[in-house]
Amino acid sequence: MENADFPTGFSTGFPAAFGFLASVRTHGGTDGGADSTGGTGGTDRGAGSGPAFAARGDRTGVEAALRGQHLAATLVHAPGAAPDGAWARDGETVVLLAGEFYNRAELRSVLPPAAAESDAELLLRLLERSGPHAFRLVNGRFAAVVRTGARVLLATDHAGSVPLYVRMAPGEVRAATEAKTLAGEPAPRGFPLAGARRVPGLAGVHQVPAGAVLDIGVESGTAEVHRTWTPPLARRILPEDEAVAAVRTALERAVAARVTPGATPLVVLSGGIDSSAVAACAYRASGGLDSVSMGTDVSDEFPQARVVAGHLGSGHREITVASADLLAQLPYAIWASESVDPDIVEYLLPLVALYRALGGPPRRILTGYGADIPLAGMHREDRLPALDSAVAHDMATYDGLNEMTPVLSTLAGHWTTHPYWDRDVLDLLVALEAGLKRRYGRDKWVLRAALADALPEETVLRPKLGVHEGSGTTSSFSRLLTGHGIAEHAVGRAKRQVVREVFALTVAGGRDPAGVDVTEVVRSVADRFARGAA
Ligand code: ATP
Ligand code: MG
Repeated sequence: MENADFPTGFSTGFPAAFGFLASVRTHGGTDGGADSTGGTGGTDRGAGSGPAFAARGDRTGVEAALRGQHLAATLVHAPGAAPDGAWARDGETVVLLAGEFYNRAELRSVLPPAAAESDAELLLRLLERSGPHAFRLVNGRFAAVVRTGARVLLATDHAGSVPLYVRMAPGEVRAATEAKTLAGEPAPRGFPLAGARRVPGLAGVHQVPAGAVLDIGVESGTAEVHRTWTPPLARRILPEDEAVAAVRTALERAVAARVTPGATPLVVLSGGIDSSAVAACAYRASGGLDSVSMGTDVSDEFPQARVVAGHLGSGHREITVASADLLAQLPYAIWASESVDPDIVEYLLPLVALYRALGGPPRRILTGYGADIPLAGMHREDRLPALDSAVAHDMATYDGLNEMTPVLSTLAGHWTTHPYWDRDVLDLLVALEAGLKRRYGRDKWVLRAALADALPEETVLRPKLGVHEGSGTTSSFSRLLTGHGIAEHAVGRAKRQVVREVFALTVAGGRDPAGVDVTEVVRSVADRFARGAA
């Protein structure tokens, strides 16, 4: 099981596009409808204009002349595959999609037979059937732009797992899956975009909320937000066996929807219950499995992951990253996540390091991310009210953190997907009453019980260890700061400044993260602190 390389081939099933930058511009109606080339096509592909995506892949330009408007987009997609499935047009309606749907059969069942092949076509037909309510039907990992008539709809999935940004200018809407592609322009004249969040450090750029459609009138510049999903507020009381069976079924379905038939899935495996459960389901869904574990010279969870890999017979790899190199990922983590939250960025470091160290052909990767949020797994105590408060709080505040962004891995060419944040899995897990989450003195009891027959007992019973703990990275950032003379009590504030500065350089300033020296940034922040200027 410890082969140096993955023996079992790689997945060719990628979403039609990883990301996009799109612009819908009014041309004053001077062309009338004459430039519209009819109902069945008329969308041309041209050369991409080269926006600065962090996502790696081929770029394809798409253009559409529409009545009174012009749509132009650049799609980033897996190398060698045409991104045709990422856009669709019917008459005056154009759909652009980054990402993928997981309930295709369900969605097709409400449409005429064979009405749609790709996810973009599927969305187009659903919009014809249900209007913007179509987005309430989709269980997916996506960001979408729809131009229909005088309106532009910008839509995120329920989790906002593919971030979507927008910049408005008079007569123009620009939307992108990476904020950096909208940076560096003069700030527009006051479009507040009610309902969308301003992106700190990028004047004029807003982020579309999770589980929402931002409905924009291109000419009026007015916008309205419609929610398409909200976390369940009520809790369900179920008998143990029913709850356990429901969790197992939901997780198996979510994993099966995320593996490509005939290809071996790759799971990033810590050996903790969350990723081990995904690995077990992935093995069952596809009959084969690759797994990879990451550790540092300071600490790792290799033995625990090996137990699972051995049990499932996966093609397993171990990658050791020098802990000194981990902090060097900081510019990449910020560039990819476009986050200015130091805690989030710190947490993402080891994962970014893992994806960058993976090498080889592009892979479809399943993670165990996010189980702790609906199950309050980090809540290591028995008081149920506190546990339910943690679930409610975390479900109310995840939006905008960008922890699930595919760019963390597409920057290295790989596509990730997170089964615990599948819409159906999440709806179920959040809604289970707290006593099913914490039971018999165990955290995430219902999940552990659901996988009891599929994993070794020691894995099922193993207490949680977070990736920042398991890889021993929690304090290396702090040490770098104190090493430069930052006082213990000022470390949090200094981290925030370092992160903001790296964001300003890479995301706002367009600097290649390879050219950003973290130590240099720390030194300049430390200087400011020493002078009392911060
Ligand atoms: P798990 O129970 O799987 O350890 P967790 O809640 O501890 O989950 P996080 O620390 O939030 O998870 O990490 C999110 C996901 O990233 C994990 O579920 C796993 O898929 C992956 N991951 C975390 N640590 C490692 C590691 N050391 N090696 C490989 N993958 C990892
Ligand atoms: Mg863990």
